[in-house]
Amino acid sequence: MNAPVPPPAMPSLRPEAAEAPSSGIVEVFSYGRDRPGLIPLWVGEGDLPTPGFIAEAAARSLAAGETFYTHQRGIPELRRAISAYLGRLYAQDLDPDRFTATTGGMHAAQMAVRLVAGAGDEVLIPTPAWPNFAGAIIVAGAVPVSVPLAFSAQDGWSLDVERLAAAVTPRTRAIVLNSPANPTGWTATRDDLEAVLALARARGLWIIADEIYARFAYDPALLNAQRRTPSFHDVAEPSDRVLYVQTFSKNWAMTGWRLGWLEAPPALGPTIENLVQYSTSGVPVFVQRGGVAALEEGEPFVEEQIARAAEGRRIVCEGLSATGAVELPAPPGAFYAFLKVRGVTDTRRLALDLVDEANVGLAPGTAFGAGAEPFLRLCFARKAADLEEAVRRLAPVLARHAG
Ligand code: PMP
Repeated sequence: MNAPVPPPAMPSLRPEAAEAPSSGIVEVFSYGRDRPGLIPLWVGEGDLPTPGFIAEAAARSLAAGETFYTHQRGIPELRRAISAYLGRLYAQDLDPDRFTATTGGMHAAQMAVRLVAGAGDEVLIPTPAWPNFAGAIIVAGAVPVSVPLAFSAQDGWSLDVERLAAAVTPRTRAIVLNSPANPTGWTATRDDLEAVLALARARGLWIIADEIYARFAYDPALLNAQRRTPSFHDVAEPSDRVLYVQTFSKNWAMTGWRLGWLEAPPALGPTIENLVQYSTSGVPVFVQRGGVAALEEGEPFVEEQIARAAEGRRIVCEGLSATGAVELPAPPGAFYAFLKVRGVTDTRRLALDLVDEANVGLAPGTAFGAGAEPFLRLCFARKAADLEEAVRRLAPVLARHAG
């Protein structure tokens, strides 16, 4: 997000396009991607390929000739399967008309922004944050407004809703709330969500809720009977102005499929249908068939992923904390360790050095906006042996760099 803005490639480009920020991870990734033996923990994905039963459902669809244009908002089977899955997760009836299939969570995020914010509008984002929301907001001509979370080495990250309220101006249109959060792992309590909803209602704002990591949570106090974190589904009315961004990428190891969904009040259906028409014109049917299989048969796989992440979190947090070189409160949710190396301020430089000196790829905090600069992000959705080796390599190098 903070990379210097290059001069336009050619004259007369639309400034919102020409000045879109480049990802802060790319530089480190490009520097280290071809190193033999490098352990790549910089990107937000696990190491398991998509399970066979999901790929087979897609292959059957292709073989059966499902290769034509399709429903703009998704095939009815997928929208019903999403409604049934979330109905179980949130213990409520959710009208299938609330759901639109999208090209990954990113397209859901982009459409959510397009629905509510345009030229000159402001959108609040608690930071550190996944940079793509800010990117989508900038490309839409609107302005992302960072509202830093508070950090303490003992208690981790917390949201001050007063601070969020103080950032609202007459131009504010929406609040993005990602819980559990990438990269911090911060996870909203039900009280946090009630307070944000009350603020949004009082000021006439939309909420863009990104709860894609809801099932990756490790603090029993934050888990309810369905073993997921608090959701706006628990506190909002179906007609509240909440847009939910969702994806198949993480739970079902489908990052490369580019399949997700947007959930919105049903009254928005025709408007969303138009936005799909004028952006992607729909998601390939065979990809959606894979999604149906994931939702209907994927529960054992999701549970395996959650168990692996919990073990990964233990290895990384215990191993790195033992070095004494980092501040790393164990994250309550998502699958990232967000660590602060004592005395280090230039994490871009450090991430490059870690490639050279430890052969481990981490993402520099500079990629994640205000307040993230002194941190590094490590994705622990990976097999234990890799993470143990990564900790072995990182420990002496971090100790050397720590002040
Ligand atoms: N939201 C958050 C918080 C994410 O971390 C990601 C992926 N890193 C997404 C949404 C989007 O995921 P995708 O586009 O791969 O489905």
